[in-house]
Amino acid sequence: MKVYNTLSKRKEDFVPIEEGKVRMYVCGPTVYDLIHIGNARPMIIFDTARRYMEHKGYEVNFVSNFTDVDDKIIKKANEEGTEPSVISERYIAECKKDMEALNVRPATTHPQATREIDGMIEMIQTLIDKGHAYVAQDGTVYFRTRSFPGYGKLSHKNLDDLRSGERSLLVSGEEQKEDPLDFVLWKPKKEGEPFWESPWCDGRPGWHIECSVMSKKYLGEEIDIHAGGEDLIFPHHENEIAQSEAANGKPFAKYWMHNGFLNIDNKKMGKSLGNFFTVRDIGKKYDLQVFRFFMLSAHYRSPLNFSAELMEAAGNGLERILTCVSNLSFLMENAKEGEMSAGELAKKQEAEGFINKFDAAMDDDFNTADALSAIFELVKFANTCATEGSSRAFLQALKDEIVALADICGLEVERKQELLDGEIEALIQERQEARKAKNFARADEIRDILLGKGILLEDTREGVKWKRA
Ligand code: AMP
Ligand code: ZN
Repeated sequence: MKVYNTLSKRKEDFVPIEEGKVRMYVCGPTVYDLIHIGNARPMIIFDTARRYMEHKGYEVNFVSNFTDVDDKIIKKANEEGTEPSVISERYIAECKKDMEALNVRPATTHPQATREIDGMIEMIQTLIDKGHAYVAQDGTVYFRTRSFPGYGKLSHKNLDDLRSGERSLLVSGEEQKEDPLDFVLWKPKKEGEPFWESPWCDGRPGWHIECSVMSKKYLGEEIDIHAGGEDLIFPHHENEIAQSEAANGKPFAKYWMHNGFLNIDNKKMGKSLGNFFTVRDIGKKYDLQVFRFFMLSAHYRSPLNFSAELMEAAGNGLERILTCVSNLSFLMENAKEGEMSAGELAKKQEAEGFINKFDAAMDDDFNTADALSAIFELVKFANTCATEGSSRAFLQALKDEIVALADICGLEVERKQELLDGEIEALIQERQEARKAKNFARADEIRDILLGKGILLEDTREGVKWKRA
């Protein structure tokens, strides 16, 4: 497997630190509002990478944080007259709902910054003790950027270019810094803000230190993959490297992966531009499986443009796979039992070629666009060789392959079996009889079966009414 590494700017062979295991950290969202469709890109991409590595047999320890202390969260809390934690907990819960709707699996661990303050204080103290950080007069702790020789290695910037190029760093007005390039590790509290005690002042951590600390705590000092959107390369990830490597005296992450940006109709997405969509907005208009398919239809490092036309194309693509799988299921209902014929065995072997194609695409820096093409080829092949005369075993094998490849992409391509109206009525009738006979266990079981199929029951005076959820 090859992975493009932002550090070396090239594709490298993927060799994990510990054989068979992958330690992966993905920077997660700041939770002050519903997540937008740009935030969904790293979620879907790195969830797919994780699924693929698991498919290859790696045990993946996948950590993704929630940044739950931040200016935007505090601002929103003040607007609503509530505590920042109320805001962050609300949007963590909403984010998890969106992740589920996008079929993004929960991480092994989802740490939250506010629960890891002790670890942050400890790492900051280590940095001070080693001469990589200093305390200014007001208690702010800064990282001494020039004390870390590797600074700039990820973003491929050198310190002197940064000095002359990064105006914002020079005009930051923080005169107490030894050098404009130094960045904040800990800052003093301000009126109306949450704070924690520390050896330097009551205050709160800077943003970058949280990821260095949570990555170390949940994955260890050296990890395999650190990932996020490309906007995080500088300064966030550059600063994480400086903090972690200066504190631990070891290389931090072996591979740095960054996804390209999602734009809307070829423009940057932004609230002020009126082209800002949350995952919730899109879920009202489209099936989120189609959205996931759309996300995977381009290489993760390329910019991706969101438009109605591309979503329609994604919908058609997914539909082709769904139709093929339903046809296979339909043919299976009356197919003959028994072993596959010699001809079928040969075809099955031929079909495995498409799996190899899929794997080869994913092995090439997770090329999901080519991987989806391999699924389409398999679908086309299945459409031509599955017939009414096929054995059930052969049809099942074709279907299993398609379903398994789609599953690596996080796409569920087996249509959920829908209950017909008559079947629903019959189950409701049976439930009524079970209730009359005081067999409440069966009655509840039937209610749950119906609920599982998205049928909601309502007991009214005129009898039981039902509707599809
Ligand atoms: P934030 O909450 O802004 O820190 O973003 C959480 C994650 O979403 C980070 O990995 C960002 O790089 C990523 N992200 C934000 N906006 C976009 C976008 N328009 N396209 C792709 N990724 C994005
Ligand atoms: Zn981070």
